[in-house]
Amino acid sequence: MKSIDIIVEPERVDRYKKGIKYSFPNCAAVILLRTDDDKNILVDTGGYGHQKRVVDGLRRKGLNPEDIHYVILTHSHFDHNANIYLCSRAQLIQERWLVSIADGKTIKYGRKEELPPIGAKGIRLIKTPGHTEDSISVLVRHKNKKYAIVGDAVKGSLIRAGLIKREYSNSQDYLNNMKKLFRISNVIISGDDGLIEGETFTELKKLLKNVKIER
Ligand SMILES: [Zn+2]
Repeated sequence: MKSIDIIVEPERVDRYKKGIKYSFPNCAAVILLRTDDDKNILVDTGGYGHQKRVVDGLRRKGLNPEDIHYVILTHSHFDHNANIYLCSRAQLIQERWLVSIADGKTIKYGRKEELPPIGAKGIRLIKTPGHTEDSISVLVRHKNKKYAIVGDAVKGSLIRAGLIKREYSNSQDYLNNMKKLFRISNVIISGDDGLIEGETFTELKKLLKNVKIER
């Protein structure tokens, strides 16, 4: 992999209701991968109202949205998928679907265990359901590090809170896949947290052992 860059940092908004703070995801991290075989890949595309941040982020790297060959969507939540349309020449890859953004031509991958192939070297997709049923993660190696780009399959705030609530599609899968992602990587890029590495990675991995599931 030539480069891995977070071109849009995640953003949350705080709202207050009767003095209680609620924090909502507004825009997930947008990540640009440039492969050794010169493919430009965007992992997630951010939320509504954040188009300019995506375009500016690409421009800083010398690219336009039309230069993106593949968009990988970690799952279909609005704070991750709102700006897909910008990459008008890309193929969209998501769990069990491969879609041409230009003409909408869609291929569905029938078998549950299958993921659409990605025609770029050095990238592996794995299924990491739990946050949603369609969650996938992207594994890449760069400068002797093992990166996992995970969307919302890992959330630092949730690990620190120590509890997975029932609102997710499958809490047990969510916990198992979080543990797996910390096992098989040494840098995680999460849609919610951005870069998780070094001491933070080690700390969260340790805290994960005590995370419980709401019954
Ligand atoms: Zn999500």
